[in-house]
Amino acid sequence: MLRDAPPDLADLSLRDLESWVIAAGLPRFRARQIFRWVWKRGATSFDGMSDLPRDLRARLTAELRFSTPAIERDEQSVDGTRKLVLVLADRRRIECVYIPDTPAQTFCVSTQVGCAMGCAFCLTGKMGLVRHLTVGEIAGQVRVLAAATGLLDSAFNIVLMGMGEPLHNYDATMQALALLNDAEGLALPPKRVTLSTVGLVPMLDKLAAEPLMPNLAISLHATTEAQREAIVPPTKKYGLHAIIEACRRFPLSKRSRITFEYVLLAGVNDSLADARRLVKLLDGIRAKVNLIPLNAAAGIPFDRPADAAVDAFARVLAAKGMTVSVRRSRGRDIRAACGQLIVEGGRTRSAAQTLAAAL
Ligand code: SAH
Ligand code: SF4
Repeated sequence: MLRDAPPDLADLSLRDLESWVIAAGLPRFRARQIFRWVWKRGATSFDGMSDLPRDLRARLTAELRFSTPAIERDEQSVDGTRKLVLVLADRRRIECVYIPDTPAQTFCVSTQVGCAMGCAFCLTGKMGLVRHLTVGEIAGQVRVLAAATGLLDSAFNIVLMGMGEPLHNYDATMQALALLNDAEGLALPPKRVTLSTVGLVPMLDKLAAEPLMPNLAISLHATTEAQREAIVPPTKKYGLHAIIEACRRFPLSKRSRITFEYVLLAGVNDSLADARRLVKLLDGIRAKVNLIPLNAAAGIPFDRPADAAVDAFARVLAAKGMTVSVRRSRGRDIRAACGQLIVEGGRTRSAAQTLAAAL
């Protein structure tokens, strides 16, 4: 953050903007007009706000910043998935993904540059944490994706499943969701948002009290404490059973369920005994299970199980009456699939150091 830098329009809620406008001696309605330019009309500069008087635009340019992540690369997969590499104001890079027709249009958004959690099968985890994203950078990915895909006026879903651990950047993530929810802007309802987390228990409890509650996806990946500790390091602090207990007390609206994501690693967590333990663990929770066969990559010391092993695992769950789906990886040819988001460079601390500082 720049010291004494002017406020960034990209971060401001409508209420913040109204306060700013009034303090600047401008009429209150200007706030709504500017906000709509940002969040409904896809403006990326004050100059683009064509119905504002020229002198007002000059004043805004002088007194506010307005940052929008710039598209450095836009890659399209054979299956229609698009991965955007975005450059931020400090030249850091993040990735976000458009996944069409699943069945809705879905944007997969990042919350951090890198990630401190260090999951053993995840390329983003290998980067360590470079920094948290700001409110404007999290919400800004949605502006950029909606404009790039022509969906500014359409319904879409958001999954916080890009780079980073959203509950480790809690306040900015929640403020970004509030900004996206504003009726004067994109009016994105929380039921169209899914927050995926490794399960930081105190933050899960905090989330449980939020007025704007997204759908919850828990990245579980294991059925014993030891097994999870080996592949998801934060387990040492927040154990598997503590996470399950937090899920049991999580308030769910009538029709909603918690999704449990389970990356299948050949010979590690994909046995039929694991499947049976998973059924037991989730007993009594309104759950659905999303099996994700590993997206293998150089530097990831695991293998993807054979399709037959994935099917057998899924059948054990289904036979016990669980809702189970197998995530068909989208965009693997452009490295846009789960766990494949990584932008090289910028690594500053060891994984152990970043995790210790994060928890
Ligand atoms: N940090 C959050 C959200 C980002 S990761 C979380 O972990 O939930 C989004 C999903 O991608 C998680 O379920 C994660 O476990 C999964 N994932 C990570 N690396 C993967 C890989 N190599 N193959 C398949 N899925 C992976
Ligand atoms: Fe971080 Fe999620 Fe990757 Fe784990 S799987 S390292 S929590 S981004």
